[in-house]
Amino acid sequence: MEATVSIVSKSRQEEQHEQFEPKRVIVGANSLFKTYRTHGIEVPALADVTLTVMRGEMVAIMGPSGCGKTTLLNCLAGLDTVDSGSVLIDGVDLARMSDARRTDFRARTMGFVFQNFNLIPVLSAVENVELPLLVLHKRASVARQAARDMLNAVGLSHRERHRPAELSGGQRQRVAIARALINEPAIVWADEPTGNLDSDAAAEVMDLLADLNATRSQTLVLVTHAADIGARANRIVHMRDGHIV
Ligand code: ADP
Ligand code: MG
Repeated sequence: MEATVSIVSKSRQEEQHEQFEPKRVIVGANSLFKTYRTHGIEVPALADVTLTVMRGEMVAIMGPSGCGKTTLLNCLAGLDTVDSGSVLIDGVDLARMSDARRTDFRARTMGFVFQNFNLIPVLSAVENVELPLLVLHKRASVARQAARDMLNAVGLSHRERHRPAELSGGQRQRVAIARALINEPAIVWADEPTGNLDSDAAAEVMDLLADLNATRSQTLVLVTHAADIGARANRIVHMRDGHIV
């Protein structure tokens, strides 16, 4: 009886706490503009894009090919620059940092998942996953153990010595996801993560991303042109011709 009472009162406290603690903004993009000028043609890739992502959200940016999704993701992650507007990541303006600091900030706070996996072909699965930790000068034994744990979390313990060429597309993307998560990043960006996968492997990868979002409160921003993939997110942001619609 006593135990029941204490559990109830604790959950009420937590409820109140949640009520008064504002949810934290992790990505704050304000009025982004970017125009590509090539061969005398101007392409407005971003035209007044404003977007907020809360910590723990899984957001899908959706729209037809060429509407500016990759440009937006790259500008949010500080891989590309905008013509005007501002991007704050956890309250920090990446554009005001030196290149070296921005690279370091990215390595510590962000993970990336790409359509083409971008694994290093000569390295095994576990070596690919531990690489971000070695870059941050973590001890080799610590990095190896963390990489093993992460491969286990994505269901690939039995493939840790396989090289990318010896893995299926879905397995390669799970290795890439393990690598993206190894630093416990505040945010993971994924650009068409299922673009090169058949529908079964795509569903498996989306199950994994949704599970990581739910169980680890991992913030995820993913770009896709596929409605069934976007539907797995908590929220969909639709883009057309450089605008959010
Ligand atoms: P999406 O990812 O939605 O397919 P992108 O962000 O890659 O779209 O591209 C948005 C628009 O900007 C497209 O019209 C594309 O042709 C153009 N674009 C993208 N990158 C460049 C570039 N480096 N130089 C010139 N135009 C570009
Ligand atoms: Mg794209």
